Amino acid sequence: MDEIILLKGGEMVLKGLNRHTFEDMTIQNAKRRLAPLGSFQFWKSQSTIYVRPQGDADMGEAVRRLSQVFGIAALCRARVSPKDWDCIRRDAVEYLAGDLARAKTFKVTAKRSDKHFPMDSPAICRELGEALLSAYPHLTVDVHHPDVTVTVEVRETAAYIHTDQLPGAGGIPVGTGGRAALLLSGGIDSPVAGCMMAKRGLELIAVHFAAPPYTSDRARQKVVDLAKIMTAYTGQIRLFVVPFTAIQETLRRDGPEDYFTILMRRYMMRIAEQIALGENCGGLVTGESLGQVASQTLQALACTDTVTRLPVLRPLIGMDKEEIVGLARKLGTFDTSILPFEDCCTVFTPRHPRTRPRVRAVEEIEAAMALDPALLTQAVDGARQEILSLGQTTREPV
Ligand code: ATP
Ligand code: MG
Repeated sequence: MDEIILLKGGEMVLKGLNRHTFEDMTIQNAKRRLAPLGSFQFWKSQSTIYVRPQGDADMGEAVRRLSQVFGIAALCRARVSPKDWDCIRRDAVEYLAGDLARAKTFKVTAKRSDKHFPMDSPAICRELGEALLSAYPHLTVDVHHPDVTVTVEVRETAAYIHTDQLPGAGGIPVGTGGRAALLLSGGIDSPVAGCMMAKRGLELIAVHFAAPPYTSDRARQKVVDLAKIMTAYTGQIRLFVVPFTAIQETLRRDGPEDYFTILMRRYMMRIAEQIALGENCGGLVTGESLGQVASQTLQALACTDTVTRLPVLRPLIGMDKEEIVGLARKLGTFDTSILPFEDCCTVFTPRHPRTRPRVRAVEEIEAAMALDPALLTQAVDGARQEILSLGQTTREPV
């Protein structure tokens, strides 16, 4: 059977001259996502992207994958029919059998961009409505709240028959907004934050701080797995695993306990910034949410922000944990995030962390501690890189 997937752009339609860049990037990202399923032909016309399998392909899986590609507002799987009324009617009756068997009511809509087609839209609706009623006598027409809306689009080269559109992932295509470094822990929040920024067009690298032997290799593997799940939305992610033990031990030994977390977070930001700049990133992304923990009060965020000149994007800042959990479930990261492995943030946690640290005080503490800058360089230089594409991993030293 001749089937096709139609992709409708969302916001990118509004972007005027950028529209072509946005559509091309969507096509590139979608192609990468479908490549493992076989060969697909892509083309665009009249603000629709067409995706046609070359030979057999799992169309259900193709639709599922495309529904995760940012830049696509809606998609539908459609039957391709010759622009001949008898063919359209016959194909519609056959193709829609499953959907119409489950429905009680339906209506037909028609779009005719080929004005040479002999029937106008009202005639297509009327005639196809009659054909479907006689083929499926249990149905009735309901033009206001139908269970199924059957659409026939008569376009330049063919007619397309489909039922309701499915919602796409929305947003704008990954890669059109530049690149940022996501601070990726093994928790619930940071994978969600990363996907939210990818939805706004950012390509991501990820930076993870590991503190072996306090954190295990399974904790590192959990982060790799999270990044892998994210790639369905973000495309390839290069993950930098930073050896953070020496800095954490020094902070614990030489610094005041109640400032430990805030000092640690400042070093995380400094290291992430250095890796980000080396990788041509224009910003940092974290999963912080205001007031969630002591290190995420306004005063604490002020202390972490002052160590970097890059913008720090915190898409979860105004969200409740429940909302974040809802998104994590939807994205498919939740079950992995809740696996019980230590994160370096939970190592050496102070009993009474400062909730309102002052930047001046923190700077004075750091000046007095005079942490050896070589530790910072060693952390950056010692980062190991893993390249995560969908379903595959290669590990190589930076
Ligand atoms: P998450 O659920 O993502 O772990 P959280 O609520 O546990 O977040 P924190 O542990 O305070 O919050 O961390 C806040 C943010 O700091 C995280 O969302 C993440 O961006 C970053 N972060 C924390 N730990 C790490 C780590 N080990 N490696 C990289 N980034 C980290
Ligand atoms: Mg955490």
